[in-house]
This record gives sequence, C-alpha cells and structure tokens, in this order.
Amino acid sequence: MERKIIETFIRHLKFQGDLPLGDDAGAIKIGGEWLVATNDMLVRATDVPDIMTPEQVGFKVVTMNVSDLAAMGAKPLGFLFSLGVPQDFDLKHLERIARGIARASAFYSIPVLSADTNEACDLIIDGIALGKAERLLLRSNAKPGDLVCVTGDIGRALAGLKVYFENLEVETRVRKVLYEKLLEPKARIKEGQVLSRYANSSIDISDGMSKELHLIAEMSNVKIVIDSERLPIRREVLEVAEILALDPIEIALASGEEFELLFTIPENHLDKIGFDFTVIGKVERGKGVYLKHKGKVEKMPILGWEHFQHFQPKA
Ligand SMILES: [Mg+2]
Repeated sequence: MERKIIETFIRHLKFQGDLPLGDDAGAIKIGGEWLVATNDMLVRATDVPDIMTPEQVGFKVVTMNVSDLAAMGAKPLGFLFSLGVPQDFDLKHLERIARGIARASAFYSIPVLSADTNEACDLIIDGIALGKAERLLLRSNAKPGDLVCVTGDIGRALAGLKVYFENLEVETRVRKVLYEKLLEPKARIKEGQVLSRYANSSIDISDGMSKELHLIAEMSNVKIVIDSERLPIRREVLEVAEILALDPIEIALASGEEFELLFTIPENHLDKIGFDFTVIGKVERGKGVYLKHKGKVEKMPILGWEHFQHFQPKA
C-alpha cells in the first residue's frame, strides 16, 4: 500500500530538484554546498510500542529524521515538527514528549527551528530535518570493488521486540542490551559526516539490512555479496534466537529501525575511517544481493518486519 501511495504522488509531482527522488533525503544545491532536507512521521498506534516512554518517543522522532541526514553525509542544521494531538490528550504526556525532543536536539546539536500543532485522531509527530553537505552520499553510487560495511551491530531492535511481544524470560542484562537499541536508538551523525568524504554510497537501516542492501544494489546497478559470518550480531541476539529456535542471521537482516549506516567504500579508504565499523561483504559487477553462508552463495531474501509479523499479539 505504501508503495502504491508513493507511486501515485510521484506520477503527479515532477522532479524539480537537483537530485532525483528516491534517496534517504532530498537535496538542492546552494552555492557550493548541498542543502539536505528530509521528513519522517511517527504515528502512535503503528510506530510506538507500549513500553516506550513519552521521552523516548520524542527522542526517536528526531533520531528517525537526523538518521536520514547521516545517510546522506550531511551535518544537521535544524529540526521542525508538526504535532497532531487528539482532543483531551494528557498535557503531562505531551510535556514528556517535549522533553525527549529537547534532549535529542541537544544530543545531535540540531536546533528546533519551528513547530505547529493541530487536532488529530491519534498522536502524530511529523518531523523535518535540514542539513548541509559538501559531498552527498547516495544509494546509487556503489562501485564494483567497494567493500560493504556497517556501523555498530544489527539485530537488537527486532530481538528486543520479540522479547517484549513474546514475553520471553531473559536475564535482565539481555533485556537491557536489547531494549537500549529498541527504545533509544541513536543516529550515526558524526560517522555520516566522515563517510561523506570517503565512502561511495550509504543508506541508514530503517527497514532492515536486507531491504537496504537490495535498494543499494538496484539503484547502483551492482551485485552485492554479503558474508554471513561477518555480520556484527551481539551475543544477546543469539540468545533470543536460540530460545525461539530462529536463525539469528534472519533476525539481523530483518531488524528495522536500527539506524546504523550501511555503506560501500573503496578499500584504499578504509584506514581513513576513525570509528568502529565492520566489513561484511563486497560490491561486484552484476545484479542482486547474495549471502555467503556455510560455504554456499545464495540469493538473499528480502526480509523485513512483516516477515516476522506472526510474533505480534492479536489485537
Ligand atoms: Mg533512510
């Protein structure tokens, strides 16, 4: 459905910017620099697990938006938001959301420039983030020979959701590590700015690594081969996978809202990157995304949250 809605609008909205639609953010050239703009909406009923505090909700709406700036290699300039609020909504709850937005604004050094509010059927926070970059990191610029890399680790957000929805009995330590990523993910703003100088392409992991890899391969017209043994999966995710008799690699590839950066970079630029990351595969000539697993190379399925939807409690 989401795809159909987007296609309907794209049919009518002619591309008029300096960059084709379809990247993490849009951009227009001003002088010698790019002004990068992105928007992302959070709706309480569909985007907010009950365990999230209002402060975490406020923080997350900023993270979702600045993460797209990071994926483009941009430095944050400003954040704007519109708030839809149901009638008689608890003002104290809104105050806690405001606190979360303020905390994120300080954390990412991104000032709030403007805001608006109106009555709505559900709590909706629609954010916009502006940034600037000298060189843009695009999804469409991966080159054969590049190494495929990822920041941080992957899988904790989905593993955390499973712990929550399935009421899994896990050690407090495990729950804490997983919930940290599920409830308070952080965007890789500093990393994005370093990568804007050295990487060829980048995308942030919002819909799951497997979907993002397919987007880069398709938009760059290349083949990507990932080595399953190199995927940075933490012990806590392996523990949850074992309890549920699931494949931890599938969890890692499907886990969304990780906000890690997936990037491709020429090998001779690797030593210029001053932060931790993991090389997980390489870009080749050809098409499609492949997974090297136990000595075999097979097509990587497109996995996502819906792949695991039977884990959601029946409404
Ligand atoms: Mg994105």
